[in-house]
Amino acid sequence: MTQTLFRDDAYLTECTATVTAISEQGTVLDRTVFYPMGGGQAGDTGVLVLADGREIAVADTRKGKNEDGQFTAAICHLPALLDPAVPMLAQLLQTGVQVGDTVTARIDWVRRHRLMRFHTTTHLLCHLVPQLVNGCSITSDYARLDFNMTDPLDKDVLTAGIARLVAAALPVTVGSITDAELDGNPALVKSMSVQPPRGSGHVRTLRIGSADAASMIDLQPCGGTHVANTAEIGAVVVTKIEKKSATTRRVVLGFAP
Ligand SMILES: [Zn+2]
Repeated sequence: MTQTLFRDDAYLTECTATVTAISEQGTVLDRTVFYPMGGGQAGDTGVLVLADGREIAVADTRKGKNEDGQFTAAICHLPALLDPAVPMLAQLLQTGVQVGDTVTARIDWVRRHRLMRFHTTTHLLCHLVPQLVNGCSITSDYARLDFNMTDPLDKDVLTAGIARLVAAALPVTVGSITDAELDGNPALVKSMSVQPPRGSGHVRTLRIGSADAASMIDLQPCGGTHVANTAEIGAVVVTKIEKKSATTRRVVLGFAP
């Protein structure tokens, strides 16, 4: 099991950790600042720095899987492949990294901060477009959110709406609710495609705006990494709106040029 430091503090850029496993899924650490791909958000990249100073480039981060393909509590750091013809595990072993080694795990913070700005913006879109979401992808260059709806959307109106919420400098707060509270308030789940993970008794939530219902902008289950205040989003704009299908409108976000 990997301790998920990024869930408590999305601004941690590095940590020391111990290698607990090395497999064809990558390097597993006892704790990490690397976010594994999930909930639409891309996995982190960065480096694992060995005790002698050598660096293993991390090209992606994924949740571990067992033999049945089910996610485990391990987080796997995938090495950048120097030779695509050589299996990943062989390349990993060539670096000399071993189970028990102490490493410094350091994310590519510039890239991650872009992911955080985009992810929080997708939650602002959920406020601006009060429809169910049936698809989401957040990369460091663009993000897209698919809404289950038939009415047209206006690119400029949405961009102005985002700018207004960014200028309002609203606090972004991580919280948690019980499974029972979530069951009693199913409208909190705005995604048709991603269901919040249940079973631990609690589900992590992300709130934008203050806690009183009148001034709250958005509240939904989310395991992703977010900026602490909407002001930090800066100049994010809607670059495109696509009619993906008869019942799906896709909103594409980008950074203003
Ligand atoms: Zn989210």
